[in-house]
Amino acid sequence: TVSLYAREEKLEPITVDGVKVAVMCNTGSLEEVRVAPSYGCGGVGLFRIEFAYMARDVAPSEEELFNLFKKSLEFLGGGPLTVRAPDIGGDKPVRFLEIPREANPQLGFRGTRLLLKYRDSMLRPLVRAALRASVYGDLRVMFPMISTVEEVEELRRFIEEEKEKLENEGQNVKIPLLGVMIEVPSAALLVRELVDKGRLSFVSFGTNDLTQYVLAADRTSTYVSNVYDELNPSVLRLMSYALDHIREGVETEVCGEMASRGVAIPVLVGLGIKGLSVAPGFVGKVKYVVRRINFAELAEEVREMIEEADSSRDIKEWSQNYLKKKD
Ligand code: PEP
Ligand code: MG
Repeated sequence: TVSLYAREEKLEPITVDGVKVAVMCNTGSLEEVRVAPSYGCGGVGLFRIEFAYMARDVAPSEEELFNLFKKSLEFLGGGPLTVRAPDIGGDKPVRFLEIPREANPQLGFRGTRLLLKYRDSMLRPLVRAALRASVYGDLRVMFPMISTVEEVEELRRFIEEEKEKLENEGQNVKIPLLGVMIEVPSAALLVRELVDKGRLSFVSFGTNDLTQYVLAADRTSTYVSNVYDELNPSVLRLMSYALDHIREGVETEVCGEMASRGVAIPVLVGLGIKGLSVAPGFVGKVKYVVRRINFAELAEEVREMIEEADSSRDIKEWSQNYLKKKD
């Protein structure tokens, strides 16, 4: 069914009333980055780089990561390329790090928590590679599993220190646009403080994890799949709160699976989301929906609708009715 929208892949993602919504690709390997432009996306909104860490005995070096980022920017004609710092730990162990066995790995030592602990082997090579590759295009770096302001402050400080060191070594460097994933409820509630003082240029909602943590329903468990629901009003109310507290000039994107669901797109765009990053095969479909909706119309209705909804059923119904009128 996805190929039904092949024609749309070439069109501009713009609403009926002229609001641009960036439609980008999620990728998980260099090969996927290479082919991404052929699906019509305006760059990569989520480059999962865990593959560079898995099934090997040493962590990737600065040079290896630099080459990966530089090559990726080339494939994208300069970008934008949003690299997600690796979300290792929890259920994604690697051979070269000691990761404790925990009772609740999803609530444990993973993502940025782990990167900040293993600074020498994990964070430094990544940050240095990004600072150097940034000179070659529109590189953006975002950090997963952020839950506190202190984590963002520590990251910023570390990145500035490494920039200075590289400059002292005579290297040509630039700080990439920095962002965080909003995938933990605390990050959604603290978003104003997270982006404060120019600490961040963008945020991207990781709705796969955000849904799991809001509803306390393991995203991988079939036993609770009836509870796990991205369109539950609780998830959307939290996103709505976050979007109301983000200052002007900070870009807002969604890179979870939700971004590729037809019924979710009117809700997300109505809330003010300006970028949707999806698996390449969904680019045409997402553009198709974006090109049919009217931002001003949605913005007026969507917050109240979310406040009044009892369940995802109400949200789906509202969205389906809206889209039906547009066909
Ligand atoms: C998410 O959590 O929504 C996300 C995009 O990241 P991942 O699926 O890699 O956890
Ligand atoms: Mg995630």
